[in-house]
Amino acid sequence: MRPSSQALKHKLPHDTEREFGGTLGAVCIPVFLPLTVLFLICVSRSPEAGVLQWPPPLPSKDQLWDPVAPTVLLGWMTLHSLLYFTPLGKVSEGLVLRDGSRLKYPINGFHALCISGVLLMLLLGLGAPMGYLFELLVPLAVCAIAVSFLFSVYLYIRSFWAPSHALALGGNTGNPLYDFFIGRELNPRIGSFDLKYFCELRPGLIGWVVINLGMLMKEVELRGSPSLAMILVNSFQLLYVADALWNEEAVLTTMDIVHDGFGFMLVFGDLAWVPFTYGLQAAFLVVHPQTLTSLKAAAIVALNGAGYYIFRKSNSQKNQFRRDPSHPSVARLETIATATGKRLLVSGWWGFVRHPNYLGDLLMALAWSLPCGFSHLLPYFYVIYFTVLLIHREDRDERQCKAKYGPAWDTYCRRVPYRIFPYIY
Ligand code: NDP
Repeated sequence: MRPSSQALKHKLPHDTEREFGGTLGAVCIPVFLPLTVLFLICVSRSPEAGVLQWPPPLPSKDQLWDPVAPTVLLGWMTLHSLLYFTPLGKVSEGLVLRDGSRLKYPINGFHALCISGVLLMLLLGLGAPMGYLFELLVPLAVCAIAVSFLFSVYLYIRSFWAPSHALALGGNTGNPLYDFFIGRELNPRIGSFDLKYFCELRPGLIGWVVINLGMLMKEVELRGSPSLAMILVNSFQLLYVADALWNEEAVLTTMDIVHDGFGFMLVFGDLAWVPFTYGLQAAFLVVHPQTLTSLKAAAIVALNGAGYYIFRKSNSQKNQFRRDPSHPSVARLETIATATGKRLLVSGWWGFVRHPNYLGDLLMALAWSLPCGFSHLLPYFYVIYFTVLLIHREDRDERQCKAKYGPAWDTYCRRVPYRIFPYIY
């Protein structure tokens, strides 16, 4: 063990409560989740699309591999690495780190999305067979999973050369399996290239909407035009991704960037889980076309709009309050003081429930599934999984806030008793 790790053992909470089921979770999740990705893709395109069907629709060996897949993936990662360095947009500073420094981040993810969009339109204009992404989904997912493992090994090894103040508090238990999974180093960088920040919102998130577009083009190939259900799914998810990139600066204050180390959990989530499971509805619609009446479509659009409104307004309100509590848009809100000097909002969106942003996100997730009708469970995978994820995330955040704010957090919980769903949870 290097001296920096020795010193760290005394400073860090060595007996930190382990998350995600501790060592058992750290062993099982990296095996189980990649298999789940492949399983879900195969189910979504099988005629039955039954998540419980037996035997499961496993891919044959040749369906797992296509030499085009690593080329596409490598090209995509290279393109986004280059776009990261384009001098577009502003440069922002992250929160103050343990050594008192602040890292600089380029805020040009939205530019990367727009440039990717223009390039894709050019490719389509040149007759590129975008619909082939449907056939390529499994090999692409296999490559993304392999890249996630290799990249996580690299991150784990290089973390032993990082100074102790650059390590994440939760990812340094000394248990290699757990630390590999959770991530040891907080902000690994190659020069000014921040690996975690890069992966968080760019190749995977933009990749997700490109895969959706591929599914839409496959539908065009098969049926001559895209269905209303496919257009809704594509538009809703594009809005979500564009919003995340438009507000890219906000990611600098999230748990992922501020608190979590960069290990398999985040790498796999960013590069494989998000692009290949969040857009399952589009893959499902290629094989299971749905007809939607205008009335149903309008109701679904309204639900997505309401979810987006709650999500965006509540996130913006907290971000504004954290950045400048005296700003006129938040100055009149009621707050409570905490021993850290920071205040907590107890009116406005954050007085409605303790995580209004999660509520909005979940309403949108439901709206993404509804265009797929009610005949199958698979298109509802995302909303079910996301409900579990956000309940777990909310619980993690509550524990961290309780540790940070002590009695002030208890007061907040008494004033705002519901966590995510008013009068329910
Ligand atoms: P949040 O934006 O919910 O932030 C939680 C933090 O906000 C707390 O740790 C605390 O930090 C601060 N806070 C909590 N309550 C208050 C209050 N009353 N007043 C002021 N500050 C408060 O964190 P997430 O990163 O979990 O979520 C960000 C967004 O990303 C959400 O909209 C979520 O839905 C979305 N998301 C989407 C995912 C996906 O896969 N699609 C995955 C995860 C999240 P402090 O006091 O230190 O500022």
